[in-house]
Amino acid sequence: MPAMDQPNPRSTKRCPICGKPELRRFRPFCSKRCADIDLHRWLSGSYAVPVVEEDASAGDGGEKDA
Ligand SMILES: [Zn+2]
Repeated sequence: MPAMDQPNPRSTKRCPICGKPELRRFRPFCSKRCADIDLHRWLSGSYAVPVVEEDASAGDGGEKDA
């Protein structure tokens, strides 16, 4: 194995986004940037724009003659 990319390839997990060795601080990612990317993927994949429709006429409160 002539490659010397990582000192401990076995004990070092790789970032699922870019494949670089993870940092403890951002694990399982290598950086906050990759963490954000994954978060975006996850959100866009799972939620796919949540639609919250609220009736504008509801809960408005009617006029009461006091
Ligand atoms: Zn990364």
